[in-house]
Amino acid sequence: MSPRYDVAIVGGGIVGLATALALVQRSRGSVVVLEAEGRLAAHQSGHNSGVIHSGLYYKPGSLKAQTCTAGREALYRFGLEEGIPHRRCGKVVVATRPEQLALLELLEQRGRANGLQRLRRLGSEALREREPEVAGLAGLWVEETGVVD
Ligand SMILES: Cc1cc2nc3c(=O)[nH]c(=O)nc-3n(C[C@H](O)[C@H](O)[C@H](O)COP(=O)(O)OP(=O)(O)OC[C@H]3O[C@@H](n4cnc5c(N)ncnc54)[C@H](O)[C@@H]3O)c2cc1C
Repeated sequence: MSPRYDVAIVGGGIVGLATALALVQRSRGSVVVLEAEGRLAAHQSGHNSGVIHSGLYYKPGSLKAQTCTAGREALYRFGLEEGIPHRRCGKVVVATRPEQLALLELLEQRGRANGLQRLRRLGSEALREREPEVAGLAGLWVEETGVVD
């Protein structure tokens, strides 16, 4: 007789696997993950940029902003607990043209409204000091951004 499961999840990318993990951790019965490929994370989850997003860009108060912020910290914790290589290395958003300076200002306000309290504006000199290969008029340093393998 074929095995029976309480929940079947179709797709072994990060969303399917995270869902399966959450169900197992909450003892919500037996779970099977069905994956069409011969390995997990064969599509988007294995071919992305590996950025742990800060939540800088999303509309404050939106569900995306909330889940990105909470998910960011959950992912850092998960990386530590499971020994998954990751770095909270920060990133810099760069304005290269004068008309982008106002947008950088808006982005900073949006980031602060999303709880990013350690944002820092960089002038062109400070920008070059932090990232010698980057030339720009100004930058916005976002400490919470990271990368994960
Ligand atoms: C170029 C690029 C860069 C990105 N960079 C980042 C980044 O830096 N940071 C970030 O957070 N996000 C990034 N993303 C987004 C992120 O990769 C996706 O949001 C995430 O991987 C989606 O996961 P998923 O599980 O929904 O999809 P997938 O990883 O695509 O998983 C879906 C799985 O379902 C399987 N499947 C589909 N149909 C069936 C079926 N009928 N039966 C069985 N299995 C099936 C597929 O084989 C696949 O394995 C990036 C995306 C892209 C494209």
